[in-house]
Amino acid sequence: MDLNSVYTELIMEHSKNSPNKREMDDADIEEHGHNPNCGDDITLELKLDDDMIEDAAFKGSGCAISQASTSIMIDLIKGKKIEEALELVEIFLNMIKKEIDNPSDLKKLKDAAALKNIANMPARVKCAVLSWHTLKEALKNNAERD
Ligand code: ZN
Repeated sequence: MDLNSVYTELIMEHSKNSPNKREMDDADIEEHGHNPNCGDDITLELKLDDDMIEDAAFKGSGCAISQASTSIMIDLIKGKKIEEALELVEIFLNMIKKEIDNPSDLKKLKDAAALKNIANMPARVKCAVLSWHTLKEALKNNAERD
């Protein structure tokens, strides 16, 4: 599979100049994620309002796919309830494993569905799923704290 068919304009845009890549002063949760296979390294910051993700941002470095996937994910989950965000994480992970049973689920991922073809590039899968696993971990740890 040709890498260029995955590096869509959307991915390039999000990886180069993401508005979601910024400092957040008043984050409630901070979670670090690392993909040693590629050197991707992100810190996800979330601000919660009760059971809603009020704001999200990230810091870090890595390949275009890891950075774009993080940025696109943040666009998707901002303003969502924690429960909904976790459902979207599962849909995304299933998409990358090519295990989507219900095609209408893909629509729920909006722009993140553009990363679908990464399922055909085993070497890049960990780059694409890094932020989604990090989000899941962040929300899980938060639930355990309550
Ligand atoms: Zn990577």
